[in-house]
Amino acid sequence: MSNTQILSVNGRNYPWMKQPVVVVCVDGCEQEYINQAIQAGVAPFMKKMVEQGTILGADCVVPSFTNPNNLSIVTGVPPSVHGICGNYFYDLDTKQEVMMNDAKYLRTGTILAAFADAGAKVAVVTAKDKLRGLLGHKMRGICFSAEKADQATVEHNGIDNLLELVGMPLPSVYSADLSEFVFAAGVKLLANQRPDIMYLSTTDYIQHKYAPGTPGANAFYSMMDHYLTQLDTLGAVIGLTADHGMNAKTDSAGQPNVIYLQDVLDARVGVEKTRVILPITDPYVVHQGALGSYATVYLGAEQNAADVAEQIRAIPGIELVLTREQAAQRFELPSDRIGDLVVVSERLTVIGTAASRHDLSELKLPLRSHGGISEQRVPLMFNRKLAAIPADHRLRNFDVFFLALNNA
Ligand code: ZN
Ligand code: ZN
Repeated sequence: MSNTQILSVNGRNYPWMKQPVVVVCVDGCEQEYINQAIQAGVAPFMKKMVEQGTILGADCVVPSFTNPNNLSIVTGVPPSVHGICGNYFYDLDTKQEVMMNDAKYLRTGTILAAFADAGAKVAVVTAKDKLRGLLGHKMRGICFSAEKADQATVEHNGIDNLLELVGMPLPSVYSADLSEFVFAAGVKLLANQRPDIMYLSTTDYIQHKYAPGTPGANAFYSMMDHYLTQLDTLGAVIGLTADHGMNAKTDSAGQPNVIYLQDVLDARVGVEKTRVILPITDPYVVHQGALGSYATVYLGAEQNAADVAEQIRAIPGIELVLTREQAAQRFELPSDRIGDLVVVSERLTVIGTAASRHDLSELKLPLRSHGGISEQRVPLMFNRKLAAIPADHRLRNFDVFFLALNNA
C-alpha cells in the first residue's frame, strides 16, 4: 500500500487515510438529540466538536429508513446505484413480499471492501445482525454485530472472543446496551487492532422511545459521548452522521396518527385492487408497530395511477404522492424495486396497511418513528476542521466517508 494511493469507488475518489478514520452512524439521530444533550451538559466531547471540529447538517435518503441509508453511507451513492431501498420489498419476479437484507440485492461494492482489497485494515461493527451481511459484503476484515457477538468466529467475522475483548455481556436486542456494545467494541478495536478505517452503526431503540432532551435520551448521548472521547484520544478522525431522524407520530394526547392506507384503498378503489407495501417492516418491529411515514403501492393492470394518486392525496395527513418515475428521480431510488406509487405522510402521521395487520398493543410509549421527508435532516459532524466545501453542494449523510478522507 502507498500513502499516495487514491481509490475510486462508485465514481467518487477517496485518498488513503493519514490516520485511522472512524465513521459513526447513530441510528435515528435527529439533530435535536445532540443539541439537547450538549445544552444539558452531558456531552462535553460533542460540545468540543462544536468548538474545535465541524458541525454540518445533511439530507439522508428517503425513505428515511435504516438499510437504504446505511448502504448509501458505505457505498457513497444513493439507492438508485446500490439497489437497497427498504428493509422489505415486493419482488415482481416471484410475486412475493421479501426482506431485502440479503447481499444478493446489493448492486455495487462498498468503500469498505475497496479499501480492504487495497490493503487497508477494515472493521465494521453493527448493532443488529440484519445489516451485517450487507455492510460486510465481499469485505476482508472484521465484521460482526453486537446482537450475535457471542457467535463471532475468526473464519466468518475476522475475530472471536468478543465478549471477553469488549468486557460486556451479550446485550439484549431491545436495549440501549446493544448500541453501547458497538461503541465499546469500536474503542477496543481501535486500541488493540488499529484498523485504518472503521464503521460503527447503532440501533434506534432509544430514539423510538425517548424524545430529545428527555432523561432516557440524554443518558444515551452521554454514554456515546464517553466513547467518542476515547476514539478521539486514540487519534481517530471521527465522522458522525445518522441514517435518519425521528419524530413523534402522535396527536396532542399521545395517540398514534395512523393512516391505514390499504383499508382506505380497499374501500375507495376496491378489495384486492391495490397492494400497499411498507418497506419499514422487519423482524424487529416491537418498538414502532411496523409504522413509518413512507409506503409504496402496487396497482392492478386496470388501475389508473393518476386516479389512485388523487384519491390518496385527498387523505388528511398525506404529504406527497409520486408515480414510480417521479419517486425514482426525486429520491434517487431503483425504479424496479418500488411500486407504481410512492406515498409519504406528514411529520406527525404514519402509514399502515390494514388496521388488522398492526398490533399496537406492544406500544407502551407514544409512537415515534421515521420514513418520511420530515426525518430527512440529520447531523454531519467531524472532530476536525474540514477544508472548505463548495456552498452549492447539497450535503448528504453518504458524503461522510468522502469528507472524512478528503476534507478532514
Ligand atoms: Zn434507522
Ligand atoms: Zn427505526
